[in-house]
Amino acid sequence: MTLDNHDGAHADPSIFAPDFREQPYWWDAAPRPSLPPRQLPRRVDVGIVGSGHTGLVAALTLARVGRSVAVFEAADPGHGASSRNAGYAGRSLKHSFGELLERHGTERAVTVYRDMRAAFDWLFTLVEQEQIACKLVHCGRFIGALSSRHYEGMAREYELRRRHLGEEFEMLPPEEVHRELGSDHYRGGALIPDHGSLHPGLYHLGLLDRAISAGVEVHGRTAVGGIRRESDGFSVATTRGAVTCRDVLVATNGYVDKATPWLRRRLVPFHGYIVATEPLRPGQLARILPHARTVIEFTHNIFFLRPSPDGERLLFGGYTGGPEPDLKRKAARLHAALLRILPDLAGIRLSHAWSGKCAGTFDLYPHIGVHDGVHHALGYCFAGVPMGSWMGLKAARRIMGAPDAATAFDALPFRTMPLYTGNPWFVPAVMKYWDWQDRRSL
Ligand SMILES: Cc1cc2nc3c(=O)[nH]c(=O)nc-3n(C[C@H](O)[C@H](O)[C@H](O)COP(=O)(O)OP(=O)(O)OC[C@H]3O[C@@H](n4cnc5c(N)ncnc54)[C@H](O)[C@@H]3O)c2cc1C
Repeated sequence: MTLDNHDGAHADPSIFAPDFREQPYWWDAAPRPSLPPRQLPRRVDVGIVGSGHTGLVAALTLARVGRSVAVFEAADPGHGASSRNAGYAGRSLKHSFGELLERHGTERAVTVYRDMRAAFDWLFTLVEQEQIACKLVHCGRFIGALSSRHYEGMAREYELRRRHLGEEFEMLPPEEVHRELGSDHYRGGALIPDHGSLHPGLYHLGLLDRAISAGVEVHGRTAVGGIRRESDGFSVATTRGAVTCRDVLVATNGYVDKATPWLRRRLVPFHGYIVATEPLRPGQLARILPHARTVIEFTHNIFFLRPSPDGERLLFGGYTGGPEPDLKRKAARLHAALLRILPDLAGIRLSHAWSGKCAGTFDLYPHIGVHDGVHHALGYCFAGVPMGSWMGLKAARRIMGAPDAATAFDALPFRTMPLYTGNPWFVPAVMKYWDWQDRRSL
């Protein structure tokens, strides 16, 4: 069974709890900090554009080796996807392992997926080392199949990963889905026992605190308008003045803008949407997600479901695509989709709905590199919690000239499309194409 991606659900007011907010659920426990404005420095070793976890991990890494670092953020720190995502910590790439094996051979496929693994493992190391209380756990992930063809495809893919990468998994036939999810919607699925989840708001606040404590200057409400090469580095023009930086890292992912036109031509911003339910009745969540795992689908255009870290609510996302001017309407469509997966939730109301931007790339790989002397790390294609953190580390190591800066993605050409200047008008058509592919694959 598929969920209609284009139904016209209206925003029935009764589905919204009295305290409903169009704001990330995460911001209740981790409100966005409004840092007091401080004078801009005249010169720093490294200027970083964007204060998500890519920018902050890079900043922290550089400050710890004695570099002076300024982070420029157009809004309040962490305004972007880093405090808005679903908090899944996995090893997801838009190219399956099987596809990479077929197209590029074993060595390349293993190298790419080993890097995904390194990013995933390092996230746990970082959180542990920095003692960031962000509810990071190895909760495990259930990946739902919408048909027996999906189920078989999934079994093949995870068997390949087990053989070549040693990654464990378990296939759950349809009659065993209830072990993991109280729903009859899926025709079986795969369980990846070691995938993780975290509270993105707390993860971001922890990184921000560690970066500031290490001496990083974080300048909120300081939008970068352009970067110009000079004899001794770069002049970074901001809404509050210019700063000379010996090196610059752009870490703006889905929020890339006119300040960096070369990157803007290479990134395709997509809007992601999530809703949170009001607290469930006692025992209800345990019946739906008995092991409190994250849930996702084995399709391009996915729905995803997870418990809130306090075990009280469900968070549900999907209908990724273009901008939606009426967030309540999008929330109503998500509410309807949630009830089709979990009909027992009839009557449940929503407490939060929000959106955020992620960045697709034309080759569906993340990108890290240098163009005209300016470093970049971005394009995580919807899965940037471990990868963005890892790329922040690697970009910093590259700026330091460290020998361990390499990633599996360094040598990829960063392509654009003729006539594309950064206006992603075609995103709804891409999503329709993926819907069609998903239906065809059933
Ligand atoms: C709804 C949603 C759900 C997601 N769920 C997951 C998930 O569960 N797991 C996962 O791995 N990934 C997920 N992602 C993706 C993940 O959140 C992102 O890949 C990651 O947060 C990117 O981090 P970042 O630091 O690179 O960019 P961001 O956190 O987006 O930060 C970029 C920052 O740059 C700033 N900026 C832009 N231009 C300028 C400028 N000119 N001057 C100054 N500042 C500027 C922006 O204001 C923004 O704050 C999700 C994304 C969305 C939108």
